[in-house]
Amino acid sequence: MNDWIITDWDRELFNRELNSFVPLRLFDAHAHWYRADHFPPDDVPGLVKSGPPIAGSAEFDRQMEPLIPNRTTEGLFFPFPHTTVDVNAENEFLFQELQKRPGSRGQMLVTPDQDPEFIRDTVRQCGFVGLKCYHVYSPRRPTFDSYIEEYLPEEQIRIAHEEGLSITLHMVRARALADVANQQTIRRYCEQYPNMRLILAHAARGFNAHHTILGIESLRGLQNVWFDTSAVTDSGAIEAIINVMGHKRVLYGSDFPVTHLRGRCVALGDTFLWISAGNTDLHVPYADLKLALVGHESLRTLKVAAMSTRMNDSQVEDIFYGNANELFGFT
Ligand SMILES: [Zn+2]
Repeated sequence: MNDWIITDWDRELFNRELNSFVPLRLFDAHAHWYRADHFPPDDVPGLVKSGPPIAGSAEFDRQMEPLIPNRTTEGLFFPFPHTTVDVNAENEFLFQELQKRPGSRGQMLVTPDQDPEFIRDTVRQCGFVGLKCYHVYSPRRPTFDSYIEEYLPEEQIRIAHEEGLSITLHMVRARALADVANQQTIRRYCEQYPNMRLILAHAARGFNAHHTILGIESLRGLQNVWFDTSAVTDSGAIEAIINVMGHKRVLYGSDFPVTHLRGRCVALGDTFLWISAGNTDLHVPYADLKLALVGHESLRTLKVAAMSTRMNDSQVEDIFYGNANELFGFT
């Protein structure tokens, strides 16, 4: 089965397992809008190349409707970070698309070499509520080994503090939140810049849940850190966050367009693997093995985490909408 194409088999999975769990009103705290022509023709990411060429407000709704039917979704949107993408064009596109969607918010894509005052001016002019940083802009090679300071410099944190901005941080380094350098930087940034609101993407990059489980105590007591659930397909990291930080810090996120890939991330040893039809032999004797969409696998995971931490309906609604509503001050 193909990425981007939602089949009857997918619809049945949603109806069977998810329809009674997912509330009617959603705030998606992690979703990417982009245009394929903002990438150089020879370096368009595969997921972008195989999907719609323009993925803004209308296309987002068109793509999410079959995935999560009959819901109203607002969100926190940001560009698709990539080494060669035209960052300014992507931010401009985000700004234009947000004009059509007053109930949603946007985060500016930032690179570590940007002047802090340019960032301040841009967020003020465009009404962005936060920043989106990414390790691919770090000078270190491989960028997956980068320290947070290398792709989110302290001067940019200061601007976020002064302007009351959120920042979505997808941590790297092999062990993510179990890495002491990552722990120390997050604590220092959050304590010294209390008006900045840090959102740790992917359950503190808990793609191997054991890393978040090992590291979450290091964040206990911090008042300005949240976690999104985007593209997380094992429940242990979300459960650890709820147990240590409380459910009010958990924000539902889809990671659109990753939602429309088929596969699942599994913890293996001290790291993780994104299983796809391209890297795994799906021929097994006991079943007709089909890969589900990441968007559905991550909702299943959030459901398991909510059940095992005994969330009631109103707490589940907090995760899907209420917590983001408070964070971004809509009401
Ligand atoms: Zn993402």
